[in-house]
Amino acid sequence: MQEMINQAAQWLAGAHKAIVFSGAGVSTESGIPDFRSAGGLWTRYNPAEYGTLGAFLRDPQKVWGMLAEMEQVMNVKPNAGHLALARLERAGYVAGIVTQNIDGLHQAAGNTNVVEYHGSNRTYSCLRCRVRFPRAEVQQMPVPPRCPRLVEGSRCDTILKPDVVFFDEAIPMQAVIGADHLVRGADFVLVVGTSCEVYPAAEIPQQVRRQGGRVVEVNMELARGLNSHLSLQGKFSQIVPAIAERVLALRA
Ligand code: NAD
Repeated sequence: MQEMINQAAQWLAGAHKAIVFSGAGVSTESGIPDFRSAGGLWTRYNPAEYGTLGAFLRDPQKVWGMLAEMEQVMNVKPNAGHLALARLERAGYVAGIVTQNIDGLHQAAGNTNVVEYHGSNRTYSCLRCRVRFPRAEVQQMPVPPRCPRLVEGSRCDTILKPDVVFFDEAIPMQAVIGADHLVRGADFVLVVGTSCEVYPAAEIPQQVRRQGGRVVEVNMELARGLNSHLSLQGKFSQIVPAIAERVLALRA
């Protein structure tokens, strides 16, 4: 393993432009379960019934059954892996992160250039009034939270939707542009905590590879379709700090 860590660090330190592509697996050690590992959300809730905008519009109360479970685990802290990525950005080794996560932990760790490809749960929207509410306000509401605005003299009461991207929704334009900006010219991508099964997000490491860049993966279970140049199997909170330490030592 140490040899692979050294190799990953050498490639990262020598890259012209290195980026990170992250998924739910980086947050499991902070206490947020991922979706596809044993016991994960999608092993208990059918994505077709709970993970689409169509499902939400049909029965928002039912979908909030799952969202409420997610909400309970969202007040957590970044782990050593998140902190290591922030150190790498501060030291100028990482240009930015494209994350599939909605939990804001990369920003909480100190990363400043983070593209939230699937939105975030910092805000919630009323699809009828087209008004956004901050998470702190929504957390004070009973579940499912309902729009408190007055419409023609009575409460709107429409059930709010978190501003996260459901499976049948388009990626927000701002995220597409932000990700494109990061990926363009990248010659190294560190893929962390993602099964790379959700498209179009999973195109990101493939694009770096197509433009001649190196793909290094850190995953508990290796992603099946990724075809990386180097695969480090193990914990994000252990392997990524080890890579960062090595990168920073190479500079010294
Ligand atoms: P996924 O559940 O499909 O895959 C997670 C991957 O991370 C797996 O390969 C697993 O082996 C690996 N993993 C788990 N724990 C790990 C650890 N401690 N160290 C290293 N690797 C670890 O997740 P995905 O690919 O991100 O796709 C799921 C979708 O669900 C994403 O679109 C994401 O937006 C969403 N989601 C987000 C959160 C969050 O914001 N924290 C949580 C669950 C799901």
